Amino acid sequence: MEKSNPESSNLIEVRHLVKYYPVYGGIFKRVVAQVKAVDDVSFDIRAGETLGLVGESGCGKTTVGQTMLGLISFTSGSVIYNDVDIFGLDRKGFKAMRRNLQIVFQDPYASLDPRLPIGESIAEGLRIHNIGNNQERFEMVLKALRNVGLEDYHATRYPHEFSGGQRQRIGIARALVMNPKFIVLDEPVSALDVSIQAQVLNILKELQNEFGLTYLFVAHNLAVVEHISDRVAVMYLGKMVERSNRDDLFRQPLHPYTLALMSAIPIPNPRVKRERIILPGDVPSPLNPPKGCRFHPRCSYAQPICSVEEPPLRQIQPDHWSACHFAEDFIKD
Ligand code: SF4
Repeated sequence: MEKSNPESSNLIEVRHLVKYYPVYGGIFKRVVAQVKAVDDVSFDIRAGETLGLVGESGCGKTTVGQTMLGLISFTSGSVIYNDVDIFGLDRKGFKAMRRNLQIVFQDPYASLDPRLPIGESIAEGLRIHNIGNNQERFEMVLKALRNVGLEDYHATRYPHEFSGGQRQRIGIARALVMNPKFIVLDEPVSALDVSIQAQVLNILKELQNEFGLTYLFVAHNLAVVEHISDRVAVMYLGKMVERSNRDDLFRQPLHPYTLALMSAIPIPNPRVKRERIILPGDVPSPLNPPKGCRFHPRCSYAQPICSVEEPPLRQIQPDHWSACHFAEDFIKD
């Protein structure tokens, strides 16, 4: 079993994670191509922190979160949780470990059985893991409901009786009832009104403080992760292009793609104008990503080397990494 650095305070270490989807063709249905959804991604998540994982739709961020929890099979790489390589565990060991690692989906309605009272849906994980008897499970469900700001009587209500914000609280209660250490929050507020988004983000923050939770917060919007993340990682077309602590990333992004994402964040001051960077063209297909830097066809800073040589993710400043050949040029004086 692979062991990580004992000095480290990392709860999770993702190493060289790859997820390719084969494309079959021809009369023999052979593999003719690979969709490179996640292509050699490595990062750490420290105990008790929130890592925001950001990028446009299709960049692979959701695949990273779901692969880490074994919801999607992986192609290669490893995920180390608490010094244990979870991909190396047998079925029984993985199931026992999985209790500590939970997920909240963007659309909790889709994952709730419409015919079951939500108390039973929340208790489902407890039943699968044989935790407690009926009475104990019922008490745990009520506690989880209270922790997310819902009432005991909600346990007997059905999913259609709740608003979008309440359903997301139910999604959080479902994860929380398992007493996890780590939660993947997969676009948890993207489908909610802005006013409700703030409530859900506050609940997540409170729960993190109370229970010492560690989060991977997946989002397509940098503005959302700014408020909840301790560190931020940016993905583009299956690759991680920048990673840093939150303050440094927002003060001084060191990758042109992050600059473009940041230019789309509205500034709540009508006197301050920020020039919006509109990226030309669409995100290229992960079936056939551009050679060299994958961002080069859309990058206004591209030089000849960019279409030839892939830039590695390099540490440019303390705890600030960028995969750009010219990252140093973006350092402010
Ligand atoms: Fe742009 Fe080149 Fe940097 Fe890629 S390596 S982000 S193409 S400047």
